[in-house]
Amino acid sequence: MTSKQEQSPAAADIPSSVRNYIDGEWVAAEGDDVQPVVNPATGETLVDITYSNTETVDETVEKAAAAFDEWRATSPVERVQYLFDLKQELEDRQEDIAQALTREHGKTLAEARGEIRRGIENVEVAAGIPNMLREGSGNVEGIATNMDEHAVRQPLGVFTAITPFNFPAMIPLWFLPYAVATGNPFILKPSEKVPLSSQLIFEAIDAVNFPDGVVNLVNGGADTVNALLEHDDIAGVSFVGSTPVAQYIYETAAKHGKRVQAQGGAKNYAVATNSAELDQAVPNIIGSAYGNAGQRCLANDVLVGVGDVYDDLRAEVLDAIDDLTVGNGLDEETDVGPLITDESADRVLEMIDDAIDEGAELVVDGRDFEHPDYPEGYFLGPTLLEGVTTDMDIAQTEIFGPVMCLAKADDLDEAIEMVNSTEYGNASSLYTERGNEARKYRYEVDAGNIGINVGVCAPLGFFHFGGRKGSFFGDLHAQGEDAVNFYTDKTIEIQRWYS
Ligand code: NAD
Repeated sequence: MTSKQEQSPAAADIPSSVRNYIDGEWVAAEGDDVQPVVNPATGETLVDITYSNTETVDETVEKAAAAFDEWRATSPVERVQYLFDLKQELEDRQEDIAQALTREHGKTLAEARGEIRRGIENVEVAAGIPNMLREGSGNVEGIATNMDEHAVRQPLGVFTAITPFNFPAMIPLWFLPYAVATGNPFILKPSEKVPLSSQLIFEAIDAVNFPDGVVNLVNGGADTVNALLEHDDIAGVSFVGSTPVAQYIYETAAKHGKRVQAQGGAKNYAVATNSAELDQAVPNIIGSAYGNAGQRCLANDVLVGVGDVYDDLRAEVLDAIDDLTVGNGLDEETDVGPLITDESADRVLEMIDDAIDEGAELVVDGRDFEHPDYPEGYFLGPTLLEGVTTDMDIAQTEIFGPVMCLAKADDLDEAIEMVNSTEYGNASSLYTERGNEARKYRYEVDAGNIGINVGVCAPLGFFHFGGRKGSFFGDLHAQGEDAVNFYTDKTIEIQRWYS
């Protein structure tokens, strides 16, 4: 493991304040709770954020609701013209967004750029809404004498999305483009830890000139969220974040009569059999476990070696970890950035210590990592534990840090049992060159996203983002056709004409 000591490249300007965007105007947030937004690589305060109060939420929902009738009456063909413009505005700003994202979140610039691309991809997919709206509706002629029946999709009103800190540019775009393309006004409540990316995304939205009230941004914390969940004029809620909050959002939004889709946390396992191409597999495994400093809902933080592959797998993993560079994400050489907060780093340290107490062996110890240039950063070095078994807490709890656990299984059946032992069902990966193993894995693993020789199986925008068990609460997922179903209702019309 090395640490990068060169000067970081000069960072682009970041927004000097965190404002709300309501009814087509930038406005200062109102509320008593003001918190710093901190660069986790340096510990410096970038900007302050004011958590919006209930009055601000009420005003935003009111303005969005007032925009509904006209936006709904705007043809889908016209609506998507705004998305074509938005795509271009985002393309033009992507480097600025990447710089701000890295500074507020800590991930590397390469990861930030990749994330923005995946966000823009959803704008592109949603621009196909006129065609997608045809699917799932339909006509049956002559259901009785002179009678026809058909189904038409209709938007429902104001939708909101509450998003997490780990993908501040991509995850809002899992929702925003589909909600507005289908004819619904939209309110984003981004993570209070990383509000700058959405400031820049909303600069792009402002440049596109959506009609007032169609796309809105309210910054804030839990109270802001609760005001949204309880508001009568919110038709539906999308959420991505930790499992306890996902469950709370699901139950509270449902209790208030709203549509809801809530994506939660994860505990993902990767498995390698003795047919795996280790030269290809290991870099992929390392990227999954340590990329984004492990702060990814698709991170495989347990790696199971099946049978006699274990020793070679372990040796190659150790070599690859040795090549990782920890540092400020603004430096192009950095592979692993900091954790989002000091508390997050402390939580991960405690998990490592508990795992050792439970019998795991520490093979690579990143606990004492300190960056010489950034002594105030929330860094942890890549860490590897061995001898992990499913009865240990670290095998069941999401780590969300640069830590991987090695485990052994005698055969694929035992490995699959380990994968399915957790309360989560977000993702899992198998490294194999055998089709029958791949099929068995897909069939038997209880997770919404399966990667075969792919460690971060993030669905493209034209597929839904899977998730089961404690990783998802609801019926319709984000992205793709599920998004169209979530943001519209299918009205049945039965017609009879007598002459
Ligand atoms: P978090 O649950 O702490 O916060 C997510 C959002 O919920 C934020 O906007 C926050 O303001 C709000 N929130 C937090 N506590 C709340 C409360 N008590 N009441 C109402 N609102 C509240 O999650 P995080 O730490 O920002 O994100 C990391 C988590 O997100 C991880 O568990 C990760 O696995 C998960 N995640 C899941 C997916 C997925 O697709 N399933 C994707 C990304 C992240």
